[in-house]
Amino acid sequence: MPGFPVPERVIGGNTPPVHSTVPTPEFAMIFESLAKNGHEEVVFCHNADAGLKAIIAIHNSVLGPALGGLRMWPYASEQEALNDVLRLSRGMTYKAAVSGLNLGGGKAVIWGDPNKDKSEALFRAIGRFVNSLNGRYITAEDVGIDVNDMEYVFRETDYVTGVHQVHGGSGDPSPFTAYGTLQGLMAALQVKYGHEEVGKFSYAVQGAGHVGMQFIKLLREQGAKVFVTDINQTLVQKAVDDYGAEAVSLDAIYDTDADVYSPCALGGTVNEQTLPRLKCKIICGAANNQLATEAIGDELNARGVLYAPDYAVNAGGLMNVSLEIDGYNRERAMRMMRTIYYNLGKIFQIASRDGIPTYKAADRMAEERIDLIGRVKLPYMGQPRFLGRMRHG
Ligand code: NAD
Repeated sequence: MPGFPVPERVIGGNTPPVHSTVPTPEFAMIFESLAKNGHEEVVFCHNADAGLKAIIAIHNSVLGPALGGLRMWPYASEQEALNDVLRLSRGMTYKAAVSGLNLGGGKAVIWGDPNKDKSEALFRAIGRFVNSLNGRYITAEDVGIDVNDMEYVFRETDYVTGVHQVHGGSGDPSPFTAYGTLQGLMAALQVKYGHEEVGKFSYAVQGAGHVGMQFIKLLREQGAKVFVTDINQTLVQKAVDDYGAEAVSLDAIYDTDADVYSPCALGGTVNEQTLPRLKCKIICGAANNQLATEAIGDELNARGVLYAPDYAVNAGGLMNVSLEIDGYNRERAMRMMRTIYYNLGKIFQIASRDGIPTYKAADRMAEERIDLIGRVKLPYMGQPRFLGRMRHG
């Protein structure tokens, strides 16, 4: 693979040819990856004093500033860190676009162990890099990061959401995500059964964590039958005692005769092994990346199982933090969750309009919106500045 031309000498003196030490093939591969997935900008952030090695990726900013979480993870290699940030930032573009938000997609990763490598200096250093992007990228909490880490980031930049409530932050997004998931579920019930009476159906909820437990509570408030499983037995017991759910074992969750399977734990649980066991008519939950492969999505469609695309269903968390940009308001946040119902409705319409599975329809809806709004934004509507002219004299 051809690399970029390597200068013999740096122009302007006898400075050593620094560029010649750069491994050019990797450079070429990076641009290849960016071109393949349409990324706009990738920033490698390094601060030796703070021990910071981080990558910020802006996938697409047509709709607005690229918002996405900051993840800290002990990646096995640079390549793994880069792959992760490219994949996740692209996912944020689709989530924001399908959710009708004026946001683009971005993400940042710190290459480090969250159990050993955290420090004030580290988070202030990444905060300064985020700030240097002038609002093109807005960061948030993600895996390995907590609200205390965000406090340090916040000391260096305004372009951060998910700060503590004392600073006007939005707090724990989980109740919003759970409520948004309920909206997605109602849209799915409407298209599948022609009504939205949540309590008339049964549910297999996998994962009773922050979102899952709230979701179980909402389902039970409507009188629904709920099966629950979690690797944490204390949480299962809480769902049984507090909300009257029925406990099942980790593996048995795939064999229940529930109408709806609701993954609220891990990704990839709808796969070749589980699909033949699932008896549900709808899949709707908060977990990310529920389908192991696209082929599984095609197979669900062929079997008549209605899949509510995960990134449209679980957008409540993103919607919630997005409101911090204009000044957070809890009531507005709750009202915004209702839009998930309409977004899902549009996805199901596109799926039936184009005769495609719902997971593809969600992507198409996101792409159509970016394309259309991008074109609407094209004509110049600015204010020209006529500097240096004098009307009198
Ligand atoms: P959480 O960590 O609080 O809960 C996850 C729960 O799943 C835990 O209780 C864990 O014990 C359980 N679990 C893990 N592996 C399991 C397994 N094999 N079988 C059964 N249970 C298992 O996380 P959360 O914040 O509730 O998020 C749940 C999912 O929703 C995640 O996939 C997350 O990425 C996604 N999500 C969350 C939000 C949010 O606002 N928190 C927003 C968007 C998406």
